[in-house]
Amino acid sequence: MLQIGEVMKAWKKNIRQVIPYVPGEQPNCADMVKLNTNECPYPPAPGVIAAAKAFEPETLRLYPAFPENTNLVEALAKFYHLKKEQIFVGVGSDDVLANIFLTFFNSDKPILFPNISYSFYSVWADVYRIPYECPALDENFCIRPEDYKKENGGVIFPNPNAPTSIYMPLMQVEEIVAANPDVVVVIDEAYIDFGGQSALSLIDKYDNLLIVQTFSKSRAMAGARIGFAMGNAELIKAMNDVKYSINSYTLNAPSLAMGAAAVEDVEYFGETLAKIVNTREEAKRRLSALGFSFPDSKTNFLFATHKEVAAKEIFEYLKTKNIYVRYFSTPGIDNYLRITIGTDVEMERLYTALEEFLN
Ligand SMILES: *Cc1c(COP(=O)(O)O)cnc(C)c1O
Repeated sequence: MLQIGEVMKAWKKNIRQVIPYVPGEQPNCADMVKLNTNECPYPPAPGVIAAAKAFEPETLRLYPAFPENTNLVEALAKFYHLKKEQIFVGVGSDDVLANIFLTFFNSDKPILFPNISYSFYSVWADVYRIPYECPALDENFCIRPEDYKKENGGVIFPNPNAPTSIYMPLMQVEEIVAANPDVVVVIDEAYIDFGGQSALSLIDKYDNLLIVQTFSKSRAMAGARIGFAMGNAELIKAMNDVKYSINSYTLNAPSLAMGAAAVEDVEYFGETLAKIVNTREEAKRRLSALGFSFPDSKTNFLFATHKEVAAKEIFEYLKTKNIYVRYFSTPGIDNYLRITIGTDVEMERLYTALEEFLN
């Protein structure tokens, strides 16, 4: 705030004013149970660790390869049965999504995304000055496809949605894509590997469809910062043109090598996902028994509310036990906790702490 008599410096008028996205906290204490940012509780694939060890730091003097010519893109193309030209890679899906907003959302009409969703969408829209509208979820926290059938400048939503954990069946996703042939429709599939069916099967049918995925959750590599988009070659070229207009070399050489190794280890990927899904299904039983209810999660987290005790109180109590979960003070979801699925041992500590507090 300006004080009386203070003169506003002229350059301050030209600052791009933004209210930034606030990620979950990254505490770092011994003995903590970290269930607040949907990271994977297991290490990355053995091949990733081998690739990290094999990496020769001497080679850091060179710029990395162009992303589209890397083993990473090759490995992804093989895994998803796509051409290399159909894949865009970036520094986490946040980087990929920011690029998408800049590349495709340039209409005067508002883009559409759900009112309860990944809260970064409105931040990118603000920073790039893109108008937006946020149709409300229904009373069960479900996206209503009919809300996305009006004129708009683009559509984006996560499937499964975050933080609700609810998966929308592919038929409804297709309904939204089919209703919007004149704009780009983006499905943010950060959690699709934990149980849903990807919309990837639709990209040959709809040239306006982009799928975004990340290595941060199901591939246990949040620290490496790798995300990617898949779609028809024309969309991917448009994204690369924008990227090369800002920063050509985005992914660093160690991440490129480690990311390729992660994708190549198909078996470890499957095993890790199965462990998390098992623990999630057990968590549904245990938390129900403790008086929690939640939508039927197809992700690596539960979106839970307690029948008697306020979410914020539970959140604060768990913190005193060094157990971190996510709490959003957003109206409509301010009595919910987003609890990431950890290892079985971590989850036991959560159940024990909750038993102590709630009984
Ligand atoms: C975690 C998450 C992202 C971003 O992940 P990155 O770490 O940047 O790859 C994007 N969208 C949703 C819905 C997420 O939950």
